[in-house]
Amino acid sequence: MIQTDLLVIASGAGGLSAAVTAAHLGLRVLVAEKDAQYGGTTAWSGGWMWIPRNPLAVEAGIVEDIETPLSYLRHELGDQFDEARARTYLEHGPRMVDFFRRHTALQFIDGNAIPDFHGNTPDAALGGRSLCAAPFDGRRLGRQIDRLKPPLRETTLWGMGIASGAELRHFMNAMRSAASFRYVAGKVLAYWRDQLQHGRGMRLVNGNALVAGLPASAFERGVEIRTDSPARRLLVEEGRVVGAVLGGPDGDVEVRASRGVVLACGGFPFDVERKKAWLPHAPSGHEHWSAASSGNTGDGLRMGEAIGAALNGQLAQAAALAPVSLVPRADGSVAHFPHLIERAKPGLIAVTAEGKRFTNEADSYHDFVRGMLAAVPAGRPVEAWLVCDHTFIRRYGLGAVKPAPMPLRRMLDNGYLKRGATPAELARQCG
Ligand SMILES: Cc1cc2nc3c(=O)[nH]c(=O)nc-3n(C[C@H](O)[C@H](O)[C@H](O)COP(=O)(O)OP(=O)(O)OC[C@H]3O[C@@H](n4cnc5c(N)ncnc54)[C@H](O)[C@@H]3O)c2cc1C
Repeated sequence: MIQTDLLVIASGAGGLSAAVTAAHLGLRVLVAEKDAQYGGTTAWSGGWMWIPRNPLAVEAGIVEDIETPLSYLRHELGDQFDEARARTYLEHGPRMVDFFRRHTALQFIDGNAIPDFHGNTPDAALGGRSLCAAPFDGRRLGRQIDRLKPPLRETTLWGMGIASGAELRHFMNAMRSAASFRYVAGKVLAYWRDQLQHGRGMRLVNGNALVAGLPASAFERGVEIRTDSPARRLLVEEGRVVGAVLGGPDGDVEVRASRGVVLACGGFPFDVERKKAWLPHAPSGHEHWSAASSGNTGDGLRMGEAIGAALNGQLAQAAALAPVSLVPRADGSVAHFPHLIERAKPGLIAVTAEGKRFTNEADSYHDFVRGMLAAVPAGRPVEAWLVCDHTFIRRYGLGAVKPAPMPLRRMLDNGYLKRGATPAELARQCG
């Protein structure tokens, strides 16, 4: 049996931010992670947060009254709008950023030029409402970096993460601008130097920086992260949660937590039964692909339900949707590539299997998939094709295919890419 103050189940941004905050407030904290590495889906994510009125925006002179983003949320959410909850979020979000900046290794870069997703919604902003984890030096984690989940390989260059924003623009323009070439050459050289010295890149970016910065401070405050430790069930005594049972290499262990248990297991992208019940486009539970962490099998939801909690069934959509493609890997496994950036570039169209365009390809990923769901005839697989010409793919890349000078051949050979000299020939190739 293990005794602690707070047991945090899972090690994505949700769990780690709870853990480092509790440790800062003086609690003994144990984090239990099912996977062999900590970081969850967050380690693969863009690491961007929508936090209006955040300190970085304010420092840049972007000052807005709480009523403005509140109005944006009211218009976005319609009859789902819960004013008390939205107000609480908008009040506490900036305080959270301030807290992490002051008390943890996690720092931020601003999104002051990044507009809201729905620019036509009243009180949308052209910038100043987002921020992202700043690049983080992995050396600060010491030996603990060995257990940090690396970024999703297909979204990197040879395993090297590329920070979104200005850095990504340099990589896209490396063959067109001398300044970008120099920038990229410097980053690539530093990456290979790290590989030689440490066996991996040490400059962590995006979501990977988020789940490196939080634990760096958590470890300093004595937080233990137990990997390979799936929580199996909550312990309840006299109507109160008093801990949980964790699995592990040496068998089950009971953890007693005097101040509570935080469930942060990351939703249900790999829970077939839940998908069947909650996602109309996945009637057998198998028609929905996700770029999230495969350990996210809805355990937290089940543990909560087992002691009387219930899910809110009134949501407009039970999943945050994004288009993914299935990338065959050399070892026979399949990666799920999230199409977040390149489909918005000029020169690409998205069509259904019937060859019909169904959306503005530059819309947000959620809207893109909603458009796809609406356009695909009932009973047909929910899928679409991204179509572009050679100039486009060499300029911007396409999914897991990188822009020039990276080669295309392997992705043509393994069927990820289809090629045709005419639209008709391409359609035949696509079946
Ligand atoms: C490619 C990509 C890009 C994204 N970009 C952004 C972005 O820029 N901004 C944004 O807001 N969102 C983004 N998202 C979504 C975002 O990453 C997730 O919503 C967020 O990371 C969820 O954090 P979390 O802590 O709830 O869960 P996760 O980070 O998924 O962590 C959950 C953890 O729970 C563990 N777990 C599950 N069951 C158990 C158990 N029984 N016991 C112990 N551990 C368990 C899992 O192994 C996992 O490590 C992106 C997602 C993807 C896939």
